[in-house]
Amino acid sequence: NSKRKGGNSYSYYDPKQQTLLERQLTFESEISTAIENRDFCAFFQPQLNGNGEVTGAEALIRWIHPTKGMIPPDEFISIAEQFGLIQSLQDIVLEDICKLLMELESTSSIPADFKLSINISHSQFRASNFKQSLESTIDQFGIAASRVTLEITESMLSHDIAKTAQQMTEISDKGFTFSIDDFGTGYSNLSNLHAFPVHELKIDKSFVDRMLDPSGLSIVETIINLAKNLNMKVVAEGVESDKQATLLKERGIDVLQGYHFAKPLPFDEYLKWHSTHLAQRQ
Ligand code: C2E
Ligand code: MG
Ligand code: MG
Ligand code: MG
Repeated sequence: NSKRKGGNSYSYYDPKQQTLLERQLTFESEISTAIENRDFCAFFQPQLNGNGEVTGAEALIRWIHPTKGMIPPDEFISIAEQFGLIQSLQDIVLEDICKLLMELESTSSIPADFKLSINISHSQFRASNFKQSLESTIDQFGIAASRVTLEITESMLSHDIAKTAQQMTEISDKGFTFSIDDFGTGYSNLSNLHAFPVHELKIDKSFVDRMLDPSGLSIVETIINLAKNLNMKVVAEGVESDKQATLLKERGIDVLQGYHFAKPLPFDEYLKWHSTHLAQRQ
């Protein structure tokens, strides 16, 4: 690129930068349009306990693009965060989980401790109206906060510890529960963990992937034991094989989630899976 600049040490016009910004702006406006068109929705991935009973599901956002097909969240979440669109996406997912809970409750097909998890990004959690918008949505649908788990990441626990702990306590006092997603990848200070109202650790898929090696297995065992010692529930994500599931159950895992059981499913397909699953277990 320096050749094109003609040897100047600085330039007001950097073609590479411009392209990136342009791309981001185009994408930003596509996301805005897609929000207006309601092209986003939540899919639901079942979670099961060691006995194979359904204990909950994780809501995962999907962009159903009219021409490009399904776009995964990793491709748009960070852009949505940068451009202040994450709140609208969160509202869509929150409404979808409330609708699903309403549906399950109306057909009395909801296990007593059943919960839906929702992923909360850093900027969402830091937004001043976060707690209020959570509460007002669930109130509007008549959903109990105890049905909703908020998945946050370890890195959120390493800044502003006192303030974060206070904010989490206020939210958890309302009945919501917290889960630490992708646990083990964030290099958090383990000695701080007890300072937060955390109910659950989710072992990152990368560790589950490596469970068949002795070193991978020992990491998984360590996280399971840590959770037990701290009186937390422990979930394994990304369980793809029977072998992994068996090992995890032998080690005392509380909840399993992964393609081995079910992929994230659209609303109606989740309902079908749920009722079939309940019927099979009676
Ligand atoms: P995550 O919360 O750690 O979600 C787990 C990801 O692993 C999901 O990818 C899920 O579809 C995938 N997965 C589950 N089981 C398996 C398996 O057995 N094998 C494989 N290969 N993958 C599996 P997804 O849906 O693409 O989401 C990626 C990430 O995007 C999520 O990671 C989460 O961090 C973020 N995300 C998703 N939905 C939302 C949302 O509504 N809001 C926010 N802020 N972030 C979201
Ligand atoms: Mg998650
Ligand atoms: Mg995860
Ligand atoms: Mg993950």
